[in-house]
Amino acid sequence: MPLFEEERMTVSNRIHLAPQTGCAVLIARGEHLRITDPQGEQVSDLTSFAREDPAEWLSSGRTIDYANTIYLTTGHVLYSNRSRPMWTIVEDTVGRHDFLLTPCSPETFTILYKTTGHHPSCFENLAGALRRHGIAPDTIPTTWNVFMNVDVLPSGELKILPPRSKPGDHVLLRAEMDLIVGVTACSAELSNNGRFKPIDVEILPPAPAKEPPAGSVRAAPASA
Ligand SMILES: [Zn+2]
Repeated sequence: MPLFEEERMTVSNRIHLAPQTGCAVLIARGEHLRITDPQGEQVSDLTSFAREDPAEWLSSGRTIDYANTIYLTTGHVLYSNRSRPMWTIVEDTVGRHDFLLTPCSPETFTILYKTTGHHPSCFENLAGALRRHGIAPDTIPTTWNVFMNVDVLPSGELKILPPRSKPGDHVLLRAEMDLIVGVTACSAELSNNGRFKPIDVEILPPAPAKEPPAGSVRAAPASA
């Protein structure tokens, strides 16, 4: 997969996603992705594909299997459909996100919300941004919906509540492989407490290796 010049420039900067938009970025193994909700109560749908073979994608099912919870937070690993780690959640200042529901799509609005006419959607925004990386719309899987607050009632019914995120809340993910990433500022009224807000996306360099404490002695090699 060629690396586009402007995308390498992009990765050193914060991308400010306007309300109801999305983008695609390339990230290298070891780099970090920070998704920030600058105003609060705004969802961001995230998906990713392996750069070496985009038939490997972020899998809700595998991730929930191995985490044994639907609520992923700090320390959890997000897995691909091939059961390889794609991301590790390094920081999470909110602790409530959704991995059950698909990205909102044109059909979400016509079938579920009875909207007439065109309505912006995460699916269209992801499809448009990912198309240039060779990702076909039909291969976009269930997204990890950062800051989306979905309760499961005892009956099994799902209830979409306002996000718990406050202004400045964020998640920080470490990429565990080279990835093509799609990310949005979600377009669905119900998921965002009725008001559309921006999302900030940053790619940060790998964490520097920790220096040994002053005065400590390095372990001697096993053989001299
Ligand atoms: Zn959405």
